[in-house]
Amino acid sequence: MRRLAVLGSTGSIGTQTLEVVRRNPSDFEVVSLTCGSNIDLLFEQITEFSPLAVSVYDEDKAIELKNRLKTHPQISVDVYYGEQGDVTCALLPEADTVLGAIVGVAGLKPVYEAVKAGKDIALANKETLVAGGDIIMPLVKQTGVSLLPVDSEHCAIWQCLWGERKDNLDRILITASGGPFRGYSREQLADVTVERALAHPTWKMGGKITIDSSTMMNKGLEVIEASHLFDISVDKIDVVVHPQSVVHSMIRLKDGSVLAQMGKPSMILPIMVALYYPDRGQMLLEEFDPFTAPCNCLTFERCDTGVFGLLDLAYDAGRKKGLLPSVMNAANEAAVGAFLEGKIAFLDIENTVRKVYEEYEPRNTKEFGIDDVLGASAEAFARAKELLGL
Ligand code: NAD
Ligand code: MG
Repeated sequence: MRRLAVLGSTGSIGTQTLEVVRRNPSDFEVVSLTCGSNIDLLFEQITEFSPLAVSVYDEDKAIELKNRLKTHPQISVDVYYGEQGDVTCALLPEADTVLGAIVGVAGLKPVYEAVKAGKDIALANKETLVAGGDIIMPLVKQTGVSLLPVDSEHCAIWQCLWGERKDNLDRILITASGGPFRGYSREQLADVTVERALAHPTWKMGGKITIDSSTMMNKGLEVIEASHLFDISVDKIDVVVHPQSVVHSMIRLKDGSVLAQMGKPSMILPIMVALYYPDRGQMLLEEFDPFTAPCNCLTFERCDTGVFGLLDLAYDAGRKKGLLPSVMNAANEAAVGAFLEGKIAFLDIENTVRKVYEEYEPRNTKEFGIDDVLGASAEAFARAKELLGL
């Protein structure tokens, strides 16, 4: 039985995690839940899963939830708010595993504190490793906790590596759908709308990651995430555009063997793999059918980095390390937020991230702690907004 703190419970990953719990009630217990502001859904989740504590990032919304709970005296749950609320919910002694599904670098602090406290982490929130991987990974080693990848590509790579000696790994081939704008030119990208960017061809996900998939920044973040999780240089990771999203990633071993993990594009399976590790849960999805589309026609191609420039920028950040990945990530969060609000054009995302990154580069430092990461992130976020006139 895993006793879960689900951070970001109202989002795409959070709700799918709770679906896994709902379908397997004897295998999991929900100890705490947190969200940004969606207290209507959080309230439903409280009534269904009876957590001991919840947190809402938005303080006013937390107060509103408290007032609503007063009219339901049969429900007993502690309500917290803000970053400290996320941390409190992650650290509850009753929880043994933290499912990190907050979006953005906001997820870093609670995961960092949870690792320090010896909790196992099932991690969807890739920005945590992009910004804080150099801090989190040594801490994971030191505390001996399990860091269980939920991001589908990383879950695939992880499974391919089970039982394999580390020095047998030669390269990682991380797959990417290519997003809704695969095959577009720069000119065509100039006037794409939010609606079109949100119409992902194969995956149904939260807003920020869907936009990241359309700029290929998602894959850039995932390359850095993989370099931390599997302790490998970004130059040993290739991005393979695979529009059918059936092969979730591959590894190449030193003798030339290539191992892949396949399945439907659904996050239910990676969530289950992480939460049941080292066991396996019972299949919840339809069976894999190799004879019907898209499984019977798999294709692979290179990413056009002349069009999707953020992928190369992420490789650069992954090589230079220091605070540059945090700066790139935070500038991207600011720009993607502005694009989602309809305030900027699609290509402004890349231009802004690049500008903030290049401005910061001369100040990049190698020695840093979590406060430096959060400070550099806040600074880059503010600078991106300033450049965008917001
Ligand atoms: P989402 O936007 O659907 O959900 C985000 C969740 O975080 C929501 O519950 C929101 O209320 C909560 N949240 C936001 N700020 C918060 C804060 N400060 N404190 C507490 N909660 C906060 O996003 P998502 O698609 O579920 O993605 C979550 C993370 O998982 C991202 O890092 C994403 O890159 C990663 N991921 C998602 C998918 C997917 O299929 N959705 C796949 C792989 C990785
Ligand atoms: Mg992914």
